[in-house]
Amino acid sequence: MSQTAQLMDGTSLARRIVEQAADRAAEISRRTGTSPCLATVLVGEDPASVTYVRMKRSRCAKAGIRSRHIALPATATTAELVDTLTDLSADPDVHGILLQHPCGPGIDERAAFEAIAPEKDVDGVTMRSFAAMGFGLPGFVSCTPGGIMRLLREYDVQLPGRHAVVVGRSPILGKPVGMLLLAADATVTYCHSRTADLSSIVREADVVVAAVGRPRLIRGADIKPGAVVIDAGYNPGNIGDVDFDTAVTRAGLITPVPGGVGPMTIAVLLAQTVDAAAHQLGAGHWALSSPTVGASSRR
Ligand code: NAP
Repeated sequence: MSQTAQLMDGTSLARRIVEQAADRAAEISRRTGTSPCLATVLVGEDPASVTYVRMKRSRCAKAGIRSRHIALPATATTAELVDTLTDLSADPDVHGILLQHPCGPGIDERAAFEAIAPEKDVDGVTMRSFAAMGFGLPGFVSCTPGGIMRLLREYDVQLPGRHAVVVGRSPILGKPVGMLLLAADATVTYCHSRTADLSSIVREADVVVAAVGRPRLIRGADIKPGAVVIDAGYNPGNIGDVDFDTAVTRAGLITPVPGGVGPMTIAVLLAQTVDAAAHQLGAGHWALSSPTVGASSRR
């Protein structure tokens, strides 16, 4: 019988993170009389985006985090969106801001993200948050990369000196997760659509992070025996970017799809919203849940 990797259970870790966030939200509310509040902003009515925002708001409600929803029409301009985000940034009753993206054609997303005050950037999308991730400084992380780092920590994966290969370089996932791995002293290689001979690079990896959006792109034959395999991909039909059935026979640790990285994203969003509220209401330290805390500030 072939060897089987240990599964990294994102569902139960995410549940614990949300429970801790709920406890902290209740404590903040008891101490200050104000409960944490996340503002969600949606442009247009894309069905997937509507569902994602509804899920996030419902998870907030269960954790004792208030949410305030602003729905802008698909015809909204960048200037209108920037005005909305600037107002929320200045509103003392809002502690975190989530701009659901993609925002649709005609919107300058970078201009919109930069209208979010860094201390309310609980989705980790501003240039300042990105820089903090790059320097290994405390700050709000992109939620999926933050969730991946929490999973690695939970399973006691030792990163210093290990070769981590990140497949994908998007600004919300591939690039920041590579930066967080680097801050944790891994030796990081990025791969992307122009990488020559992806297989041979993945074969060298002690840790593989697949963040592509191509079903079963990474085959088990390319996994080094005993490697840690993190599959952030989510393709139609609950299929990851890793061919799970063949990879599970070679990896040491592997995330399932679903139930691995997916649940961690909302958990980190909630934890960072509570951190933001604690900081703004003077009820604790900022970014207590940051996976970069403890990394050297020089990196
Ligand atoms: P994205 O913006 O489309 O980026 C995809 C990346 O993959 C790009 O850097 C692209 O390279 C690279 N790529 C494409 N084809 C490739 C190939 N054949 N070989 C190597 N690299 C290739 O996607 P994303 O937003 O980062 O999302 C990636 C996946 O993660 C998707 O399945 C998405 O659904 C999932 N995701 C999950 C969560 C979650 O909460 N679990 C959150 C976000 C995303 P170039 O840069 O050269 O184009």
